[in-house]
Amino acid sequence: MAGEPQDDCLFCKIVAGQVPATIVRETDTTVAFRDINPQAPTHVLVIPKAHHKDAAALAAAAPELAADVLRETQAVADEDKLDSYRIVFNTGSGAGQTVWHAHAHVLGGRGLEWPPG
Ligand code: 5GP
Ligand code: ZN
Repeated sequence: MAGEPQDDCLFCKIVAGQVPATIVRETDTTVAFRDINPQAPTHVLVIPKAHHKDAAALAAAAPELAADVLRETQAVADEDKLDSYRIVFNTGSGAGQTVWHAHAHVLGGRGLEWPPG
């Protein structure tokens, strides 16, 4: 069921503390942790604690939770003192999504090209 923890989901395991992560922020509804393979000096993933497979499913099923995730991206940027940063939600395998638990990438701390690759 949407929102329920999934046994085979890496990010549900991070939420449950079963897989270690460098957690930078936690709220009642979200966790933010550093990406294991950073693409920029700041590369933090902000996830809802509840399992939704991607950003679109999250926004459709739980719009307030989607807003919590977005709000936390700004909090992460503030914590790393970024005045410019990029928020990325890879959605679908063709766009590079590899973990099927909605997550926002917060990238910053270097120049970011536009358009992205
Ligand atoms: P996606 O490709 O789905 O948009 O993003 C998944 C991200 O999760 C990738 O940037 C990848 O480096 C990161 N990732 C994969 N496994 C782990 C892990 O075990 N711990 C952490 N902190 N990040 C991970
Ligand atoms: Zn999950």
